[in-house]
Amino acid sequence: MDKLISLCKRRGFIFPGSEIYGGLANSWDYGPLGVELKNNIKQEWWKRFVHQRTDMVGMDTALIMNTKVWEASGHLQNFSDPLVECKKCHRRFRADHLLAEESFGNAIIISADPDKQKDLLIEHKIKCEDCGALDWDRPKQFNLMFKTFIGPVESEDNAVYLRPETAQGMFVNFKNILDTSRKRLPFGIAQIGKAFRNEITPGNFIFRTREFEQMEIEYFIPAPKKDKDWEKYFDEWREEMKKWLNDLGISAKKLHYENIPDGERAHYSKRTIDIEYDFPFGKKELYGLAYRTDFDLKNHMEKSGQDLRYLDPETNEKFLPHVIEPTWGVGRSVLAAMLEAYHEEDLPSSAEATEDKTDMRVVLKFPKWLAPVKVAILPLSKKENLSSKAKEVYQDLIKDFVCEYDETQSIGKRYRRQDEIGTPYCVTVDFESLEDKAVTVRDRDTMKQDRVKISELKEYLHKNLTFNF
Ligand code: ATP
Repeated sequence: MDKLISLCKRRGFIFPGSEIYGGLANSWDYGPLGVELKNNIKQEWWKRFVHQRTDMVGMDTALIMNTKVWEASGHLQNFSDPLVECKKCHRRFRADHLLAEESFGNAIIISADPDKQKDLLIEHKIKCEDCGALDWDRPKQFNLMFKTFIGPVESEDNAVYLRPETAQGMFVNFKNILDTSRKRLPFGIAQIGKAFRNEITPGNFIFRTREFEQMEIEYFIPAPKKDKDWEKYFDEWREEMKKWLNDLGISAKKLHYENIPDGERAHYSKRTIDIEYDFPFGKKELYGLAYRTDFDLKNHMEKSGQDLRYLDPETNEKFLPHVIEPTWGVGRSVLAAMLEAYHEEDLPSSAEATEDKTDMRVVLKFPKWLAPVKVAILPLSKKENLSSKAKEVYQDLIKDFVCEYDETQSIGKRYRRQDEIGTPYCVTVDFESLEDKAVTVRDRDTMKQDRVKISELKEYLHKNLTFNF
């Protein structure tokens, strides 16, 4: 993790937030390469799940919604984590996290009852991570929603919340979507956007932050006639998520599909699978898949007084659809993809290795579609005629690909720089290029070089950079 965090900072993927003022705990800013990487993830997701399917539509809803939304969804009452305070140093921790960390060797059954949680902490001698005391207060439920006020008066009547998930924006618009898109069940609504949670213990770089992006789908299905009718849709989405992870370059052996037992699921869910990944700091949730039943639509219908039922055009039956919800965290996708891509490789004693006397390279082996920069254009020397030819090639390629132009330092060092940010192709313009109107294209992974006519370069790159999912 330390190597990755330092690479992210050094090369402009991700910077600590508000850094010149000493930072703001666990906030991060995406730099020029980070934003390209993140956008590639979001764009591919949108293309795959919205544009390329006939049963999906997209939305972009408000971050701040009417407070009644959060009453109806249960977030005001239930969206909380157990917070335990060390009576000696007054630091606060997630009681369930402390118990979960300890439970690896001991298989502790984590209770939701605060008194039992306190007893378990004492029984297993789980001490304060900060001061080492074993003096816990009774855990209290702490609501994770960020509260603010609309208008100039800070009163309870004006209190509003930043959304803790994107889902509710889609539920409250269900009728609008039905009326305007004329979709028939089953169909889904997709949204990508920010969510905010006042996490008690954020950390592990961009893994757990208080402000993060989600890519969510609410997939509406007919109300199950038989008990397990919803399962086929649930299974279909699990397969879609598996395929997505494969295309993101995540190795299957580091993924775990954990069924969350009764009592530990979110208040709205009848079945949840956490898709967990072996992060360097432990096996943790990457994505989630939940069967939310008709919980949300039912509550919004009751609280708003609006009829949110679906009218089946064939049977004329009116009913509330049920919902399967696959959720992807954008930041966690970025983190897992970067961890998978990160390689340190010994260089063979090739010309590349000897030229700058290094025998090791750091290379981000992203799937090509994901790489923030697709092509680097490198004139062999800064000589005027080479530079201008290389710039000509660059100006043409930027119409089709995200490119970088670099003419500083030795060619070996420039290759290393591009390897370190995961650029799949380096195009070198050399003195021969002026004669034979061709360039050398070097492949990031194999380091093999091809001589390609400049007139055929775009076609060559398109062929090699197009990924058939
Ligand atoms: P966790 O158990 O890690 O707190 P969660 O079960 O609360 O996660 P969900 O409510 O299912 O998470 O949110 C859906 C997805 O949003 C998660 O799978 C994750 O990818 C992402 N996510 C949730 N909380 C955060 C956070 N604080 N920072 C970054 N991403 C998050």
